[in-house]
Amino acid sequence: MSRKKIVAGNWKMNLDRAKAKELTAAVAARRGEAAAVELVLCPPAVYVETVGTTLTAAKSDVGLGAQNMLDKASGAFTGEVAPPMLVDLGCQYVILGHSERRTLFGEIDAAVNMKTKAALAAGLVPIVCVGETLEEREADRTAAVVSGQVQGSLAGLSPADLEKVVVAYEPVWAIGTGKVATPEQAQEVHALIRGLLAKLSSPEVAGRVRIQYGGSVKPDNAADLARQPDIDGALVGGASLKADDFLGIAKAFG
Ligand code: PEP
Repeated sequence: MSRKKIVAGNWKMNLDRAKAKELTAAVAARRGEAAAVELVLCPPAVYVETVGTTLTAAKSDVGLGAQNMLDKASGAFTGEVAPPMLVDLGCQYVILGHSERRTLFGEIDAAVNMKTKAALAAGLVPIVCVGETLEEREADRTAAVVSGQVQGSLAGLSPADLEKVVVAYEPVWAIGTGKVATPEQAQEVHALIRGLLAKLSSPEVAGRVRIQYGGSVKPDNAADLARQPDIDGALVGGASLKADDFLGIAKAFG
């Protein structure tokens, strides 16, 4: 089953407007270095428009994504951002259920599920994050935790919708720590996720879903991850803030 690889940069709450423009322009200019890979930039919400206009000015096919949204289209939700607003700014993707959202802002699977459905209804591709903590891994609970998150976050999706989702497996202990999962550890969980997706839909649909790995991906560890059969790209935090590193990772998936 050939799946187009997808590498997304999660800038988190970093950069300023000038630096966001500069990084976007650099990635757009060098996009050809990883031509076979779908590339996505996910800036902070306030810079989505700047990044979008910079990509448009460069006539770039690099995708635009947000890092979060609410599941409501409009209304009295102070401080929140609605899916149609992201679409209005040219977003095609949205990261949902990132571990920082789950642990720092109390997002539970049911909320991620509602956001996933709202994103799909608005025409956005949700990048749905799952992953176990170090404690959970050490207690041999990785499979149970990840299964619960996948089933809870993706419950009730039609096969046609499920196929559009990108799942990001991000072991929490590997995020921002410099501790990357071994390719074998990652592959094992990616295969488990694909098996769960097959149960939620069919093996054919599951075979078309892209599953990214995230957690301290760098240019020097990306190639080994990319060789694994169920790793279809990367969700990149820290290393996405430098064009060289981001493109180095993308190239490894090309
Ligand atoms: C992330 O936050 O999605 C992530 C993978 O971060 P890092 O690459 O910095 O570990």
